[in-house]
Amino acid sequence: MDIGIATETPEGLDALRPLWPAMLEHHRHLVGAQWPVRGTARGIFWTLGKDMMVDYELVEAAGRVAAECSRGDEHTVAAAARARDGRIVTAMNVHHFTGGPCAELAVIGTAAAQGAHQLDAVVAVGGGDRGVMPPCGRCRQVLLDYFPAIRVIVDTDGVLRAVPVAELLPGAYIWSDHQS
Ligand SMILES: [Zn+2]
Repeated sequence: MDIGIATETPEGLDALRPLWPAMLEHHRHLVGAQWPVRGTARGIFWTLGKDMMVDYELVEAAGRVAAECSRGDEHTVAAAARARDGRIVTAMNVHHFTGGPCAELAVIGTAAAQGAHQLDAVVAVGGGDRGVMPPCGRCRQVLLDYFPAIRVIVDTDGVLRAVPVAELLPGAYIWSDHQS
């Protein structure tokens, strides 16, 4: 997908030119990556990979479950995952002192029970209007091992970003590398 600013005239393009660095910086902030910016006769554009885009439908789904299904201390965070076939799967955490699973882990099991074994994106939203929550360390490791290419929607200073799970776990232990 191309995003950018279009102009009808060469003068308009000249007027936009000084904005390139700021736009590039803004774009880097949004997607956490550097992408080439192109100037064309129609304006300034850059390509935003579909997989870098935030799946707002997913955020909404998790938010709805968090708002409607949070209950006491037991179920306080909802997760929504996008399966490869397009389905959205939702689940809630199961809090318990023995180490009940977070919502991200619950949604992996729920998806499996529905025959969805490839997940492309996941997001967790806290009940009580806590918004998008980052996965804990354990969930980052599990997500990486189960779905190395999955993107996790996180909130960075109020901006939602779809981040590859590997970016959330630098220098990660790769479980499959150590199995004989
Ligand atoms: Zn977790």
